[in-house]
Amino acid sequence: MKQLLNLSILAIATSLAFGASAQEYPSKDKVVTIVVPFAAGGPTDRVARDLAESLRKPLGGVSVVIDNTAGAGSSIGAAKVARAAPDGYTLLLNHIGMSTMPALYRKLAFSVPNDFEYLGIVNDVPMTLIARPSIPANNYKELATWIGQNKGKINLGNAGLGSASHLCGLMYQSALQVDMTPVPYKGTAPAITDLIGGQIDLLCDQTTNTTPQIEGKKVKAFAVTTTKRLATPSLKDLPTLDESGLKNFQVTIWHGLYAPKGTPADVVKKINDALKAALKDPEFIKKQEGLGAVVATDKRIEPAEHKKFVLSEIEKWGAVIKAAGTYAD
Ligand code: ASP
Repeated sequence: MKQLLNLSILAIATSLAFGASAQEYPSKDKVVTIVVPFAAGGPTDRVARDLAESLRKPLGGVSVVIDNTAGAGSSIGAAKVARAAPDGYTLLLNHIGMSTMPALYRKLAFSVPNDFEYLGIVNDVPMTLIARPSIPANNYKELATWIGQNKGKINLGNAGLGSASHLCGLMYQSALQVDMTPVPYKGTAPAITDLIGGQIDLLCDQTTNTTPQIEGKKVKAFAVTTTKRLATPSLKDLPTLDESGLKNFQVTIWHGLYAPKGTPADVVKKINDALKAALKDPEFIKKQEGLGAVVATDKRIEPAEHKKFVLSEIEKWGAVIKAAGTYAD
């Protein structure tokens, strides 16, 4: 009898404890960590840091910090979040890599469809084709001629297999039918440093990273990867690759927010509500638009639609990657 009583007291205490933790989320004495699976100072990091600032208020004033766990085209950071406690205190901000990794890696330590709770799409970001400042070309036509004259000698930076720069680079080489030497980094922040220094020749990277470098004339910019020219004042004169002769060339990078699978539904709702508030924050919108990004307002800000979208992207990019025959173990 006494044992039975003890057990029921334990059951009540446990349910109260679990109920309280969901109710109190986010607790003021805890910190929400957003894992960025690329190097600090790069475009994914930029989006995450701007978002962290705008999430703080709708999350009740809790601290939101960034953890850069970079490497292997975002798969190391994503694996870390897939294995983290599903309590809403460890989140992942990742880009299109969520849809390219399943086809690119033969052995992935997590399942994109099954190991995450989907919290909403954050933004869409165009990419730019940029080059080291010393490259002897001043417009896309001259660049195309230079590439033709330097086949076999061109170094193309990327942020690892599955990264946005890798995907864009693959598509660019296949559109041109030219092979370039891939030079992988832990993110495009270190890649752009080497581009400015002349250690690599070309890089395809998000405008959230390249805009300040283009404005500062630290790199040469040749084209955008969208089918329409961009509205951002410093980028509006860049031609599209499509109008430059690579018909239908289009890559737009999206970012989404994730939590480990099993995060309680009410915590997922609280984070999604906070994300929706952050996406309406004029400060966040202003910062992102200044860098060429478009903050999400469509149905993909709903968790179920975010997941549906990622699954369709896995299918789309999986077919492109399989056709290109690129894999990593
Ligand atoms: N822009 C990088 C990429 O190519 C990622 C980063 O460094 O944020 O995926």
